[in-house]
Amino acid sequence: MQTILVTGGAGFIGANFILQARKEQWANVINLDKLTYASNLQNLAELETDPNYHFVQGDIGNFELINYLLEQYQPDAILNFAAESHVDRSILNPHDFIQTNVVGTFQLLEASRLYWQKLSSPKQQQFRFLHVSTDEVYGSLQPQDPAFREDTPYAPNSPYAASKASSDHFVRAYYHTYGLPTLTTNCSNNYGPRQFPEKLIPLTILNALDQQPLPIYGDGQNIRDWLYVTDHCEAIYLVLQQGKVGETYNIGGLDEKANLTVVEKICAILDDLAPKSNVHYSSLITFVKDRPGHDRRYAIDCSKIHQDLGWKPQENFDSGLLKTVQWYLANSVWVEQVRSGAYKNWLKQNYENR
Ligand code: NAD
Repeated sequence: MQTILVTGGAGFIGANFILQARKEQWANVINLDKLTYASNLQNLAELETDPNYHFVQGDIGNFELINYLLEQYQPDAILNFAAESHVDRSILNPHDFIQTNVVGTFQLLEASRLYWQKLSSPKQQQFRFLHVSTDEVYGSLQPQDPAFREDTPYAPNSPYAASKASSDHFVRAYYHTYGLPTLTTNCSNNYGPRQFPEKLIPLTILNALDQQPLPIYGDGQNIRDWLYVTDHCEAIYLVLQQGKVGETYNIGGLDEKANLTVVEKICAILDDLAPKSNVHYSSLITFVKDRPGHDRRYAIDCSKIHQDLGWKPQENFDSGLLKTVQWYLANSVWVEQVRSGAYKNWLKQNYENR
């Protein structure tokens, strides 16, 4: 079985990927994560006794640490999820986004190149560096525009998107300049279990349950494509196994929805599953001042990954959203711990004293 160095594996998508990778026996996993506010090692607590899973706390920008881990574990692939990922935060504080998404990815690429160049064949031929990126690098679409393709020019509009675009360019350059066997995936909005409650779907679920306002930017008609997280993880694994080196693959859910529609659907599910007497959750919807530079529409053309690798999403938005709401309702301890910061104390007890 392969060994993969996964970065950012304590975050939303990375944790879902690692759980799937260990369950399906895709790979042995080394998880390198800095443990920022967005991380949650409790997501991976069930792997604590798994001998083929190792956690290391650290920064992708720490070149010496990466060198050490590559020498120590001799991975067959590196899977880079680590990032600052929240657009609103990138508007308030772009610095961290440049540091991790741009400089950190560069350091990871550089250490990977040196490691890869020393590998003997066939391990050198089999090695892959897969960079997980976003559709936000392509900018904004008008309602009538065709969906983003892999050859759509980059036009990032937020500091987050600009930092991810920059990292994508470095990944591309390491393939073209040094021959490092890279792959890049650009995916639309993910949703599902274990997402930190600052993003639209978990924020809406948890605010609604607390009878707090459900904030919607502008007129609520900004459109996103939504993909259930396990579909994304399967696509990433497929690209890692079968993707053509040096190429990029768009991944999407073929499920475009206006933000207001998403929130209304969550309210309707909660009216059903967690009814409050005499009041509909949608009465909590509150329109707030639009985000600066807010992209109007994202849509993904994922025909390349479908035609070349046979991937298509399994979950449709309505069933995926229902499963997601059910997960948050069934995991109130997780929710409380994330909100109260109690998991940070758990982390201290479990890791700092080892
Ligand atoms: P997340 O914010 O939930 O998790 C990011 C993880 O990276 C956290 O565990 C954090 O501690 C870690 N991290 C941050 N800086 C680090 C550093 N310097 N070194 C090591 N670890 C660090 O993010 P997510 O939603 O899971 O997204 C994962 C990746 O997928 C990101 O690269 C993001 O750009 C991309 N992506 C996300 C979405 C989405 O909808 N969430 C869609 C497309 C692409």
